[in-house]
Amino acid sequence: STPVATFCALTKAATNGLLIKGGDYLEILAKIKVVAFDKTGTITRGEFSVTDFQSISQNISLDNLIYWVASIESKSSHPMAAALVDYGSSNSIKPQPENVTEYQNFPGEGISGEIDGKKIYVGNKKMATRARCEIVSELKKEGQTIGYVFLDDMQIGTFSVADTCRTGVAEAIKQLKGLGLKTAMLTGDSHSAAMRVQDQLGKGLDFVHADLLPQDKVKFIKELKKQGPTAMVGDGVNDAPALASADIGISMGIAGSALATETSHITLMSNDIGKIPQAIRLARKTRRKII
Ligand code: ADP
Ligand code: MG
Repeated sequence: STPVATFCALTKAATNGLLIKGGDYLEILAKIKVVAFDKTGTITRGEFSVTDFQSISQNISLDNLIYWVASIESKSSHPMAAALVDYGSSNSIKPQPENVTEYQNFPGEGISGEIDGKKIYVGNKKMATRARCEIVSELKKEGQTIGYVFLDDMQIGTFSVADTCRTGVAEAIKQLKGLGLKTAMLTGDSHSAAMRVQDQLGKGLDFVHADLLPQDKVKFIKELKKQGPTAMVGDGVNDAPALASADIGISMGIAGSALATETSHITLMSNDIGKIPQAIRLARKTRRKII
């Protein structure tokens, strides 16, 4: 390859807010056939707001429940965590992270921690299994993300949060299609939340897979690779294994977790998915100059 063409392309990409960690990745980018996207924080902004919050235990006041959840979530960097902490503040409930011990994060599921001598679990349906609890009550909010709170062997609360798509995602997916690529969404969120996003994108994604744990994302990347070189775009700790197993891992610069950035080959400094079709065009052009 001609080093000059490669260098120019890397520089041009960087000026556009796309950090490519080496010329080799530019060459692979030119050959990409499939682009898989994470949902939360990648296709969507990851700026959730709480739309409902209910205590389902007669012994626990809603304020007390919000205090526990907000305090434990204040230790998490997940996009949903900030919404739950803010929800506490808007109800005049101040989270006390210093009162939380044994904090644990379960990527793709939720978190747990001890507060006021109580072991609390917060997360999706998968958390019920981890907490050895049954789900007895859940909010019905079509397309929103539903959360559950558990204490001991009981569910004690349920809440719903909503997020919105980033601008330009539908257009980017259209452009990728125009370049002859297939697109997919791999999410740890529920099927209904995933389908709402697919609808908002005009059903533009070729494949949608929901309820995935980090290792399930890896499994689907391996599956997609059968169709050709595959790129994975993600922001979260839960995406890191999939980013590493893709031919090209692309992380969301500013909004993403440090682990995702470290594991990726390309970082989108601007969080703009629209830069991906641009970069593929640039990579293909550079390749023609090289050969
Ligand atoms: P995605 O793959 O779409 O980025 P994640 O794997 O990050 O989604 O999260 C999957 C699901 O796990 C979330 O939709 C949420 O229900 C649950 N979850 C993850 N982290 C948390 C947290 N800190 N608090 C509550 N729920 C969480
Ligand atoms: Mg994510």
